[in-house]
Amino acid sequence: MKRLYEAVIGLEVHLQLETETKAFCGCSTEFGKSPNSHTCPVCLGFPGSLPVLNEKAFLYSIKVALALNCKIQDTIKFDRKNYYYPDLPKNFQISQFDMPLSYDGFVDVISGGREAGKRVHIKRVHLEEDAGKLIHPSCASYSLVDFNRAGMPLLEIVTEPDINSPEEAYNYLTALKSILQYLRVSDCNMEKGSLRCDANISIRKAGEKELGVKVEVKNMNSFRWVREALSFEIGRQTSLAEAGERIIQETRLWDAQKFVTVSMRSKEEAHDYRYFPEPDLVPFIVDKNIIEDIRKALPELPDARADRFVKDYGLSEYDARVLTGQVDLADYFEECARIYANKKTLANWINGDIAAQMNARNVNILSLGIEPKDLAELLKMIDDQSISGKIAKDVLAEMIETKKRAGEIVSSKGLSQISDKGEIEKTVLDVLAKNERSVSDYKGGKKTAITFLVGQVMKQTRGKANPAMVNDMLKKHLGE
Ligand code: ADP
Ligand code: ZN
Ligand code: MG
Repeated sequence: MKRLYEAVIGLEVHLQLETETKAFCGCSTEFGKSPNSHTCPVCLGFPGSLPVLNEKAFLYSIKVALALNCKIQDTIKFDRKNYYYPDLPKNFQISQFDMPLSYDGFVDVISGGREAGKRVHIKRVHLEEDAGKLIHPSCASYSLVDFNRAGMPLLEIVTEPDINSPEEAYNYLTALKSILQYLRVSDCNMEKGSLRCDANISIRKAGEKELGVKVEVKNMNSFRWVREALSFEIGRQTSLAEAGERIIQETRLWDAQKFVTVSMRSKEEAHDYRYFPEPDLVPFIVDKNIIEDIRKALPELPDARADRFVKDYGLSEYDARVLTGQVDLADYFEECARIYANKKTLANWINGDIAAQMNARNVNILSLGIEPKDLAELLKMIDDQSISGKIAKDVLAEMIETKKRAGEIVSSKGLSQISDKGEIEKTVLDVLAKNERSVSDYKGGKKTAITFLVGQVMKQTRGKANPAMVNDMLKKHLGE
């Protein structure tokens, strides 16, 4: 059945840039310091104080804009966005209104192979400052405010309404985050609030050109919530449309406990921000050479790197994409690849056991603490049959726990693989004698019985027997 309605989605991402000081003053941006200790007359909005643009924040913004294929504005101008709120001491936010520092870019979102890719256009990328943080202690009749975050450099990245499903939104955000991490302009930590997303969504009859009335969903600090909230909204809006009811333009919040969006304010209550040019920051023109220098210095980005991994290392498209999705993981792979020859094995281990260990411990590759040379040592021990692949898994876990090297663990625990013919033969004969049923099954044509016998030999040798030799030896004694 053809779907009657299609979803139209545009995403706004706020990225905290990782600078030492705030966007327009010299206060430290360090996270987690005692409340209001990183403030000054500028970020507290004292009369007569003057903002100065942070050069690093500006150059980082250009870097992101170029990586997202955006055009750069000739003249850079800032504007005041006026509103009153307790977390905004100046009563305005320095932002950019009609002349964002960059516009007209795109991100190619590749999932499930090149053909399934989709180009999401970037409407604008602009630089602004963050607000402070309100804290509402439970059971208290007051609220607290921490201005340490006020004035932190924020990059707003806005897409065109090009996205048509929650899954696409999720994939776009993943691709964007990956690029941002490659650029090393932010820690992109969603739990800390360095990366936040607001989603705009409307529905329209399939095939229609005109956009429907949009709803903005705020307050989502994980990509999963964005996906869930969008799914919920599609359902809610579709039911309204089918019942012939009007969808109203409003801002809604995602309730991660109840898995629903709830109305926060409707268009009628929306602010008029009275934007006007920030008089304390004069417009300026960026030297084209500066832009070209930043462009030339852009790192190899995830898509290009994945292509190279396929070409240079002979990896599958899938493995290459998983490895290059995170810059630290890609760097790790390449460091290992320099000292270990079998790239396919390396990719399997990193995407398999290493990834499982990272997930189980909820850490990234750097905090896992396995040096490339130590992983290479482990894999070489499998290759030269000093240990079996199965035992190598246990050794890896032990390496992470104890910080010991593979060789040390294997020798101290006596895990070396048994490749001594005589020793294996002894165990094989013993197993055959004890398992007459399986032997006759096998001889009667049930060839799979051998799996059980191999398992018994491995069990008796505590996993240390060389499996290929066990197999051969069993077959030999079973008369093949
Ligand atoms: P506003 O002025 O309300 O902030 P913008 O035009 O700046 O609106 O768009 C904000 C975001 O909403 C962008 O990501 C844009 O793609 C998206 N958007 C705009 N109109 C719609 C719509 N009708 N349906 C879904 N998304 C939309
Ligand atoms: Zn300050
Ligand atoms: Mg907007």
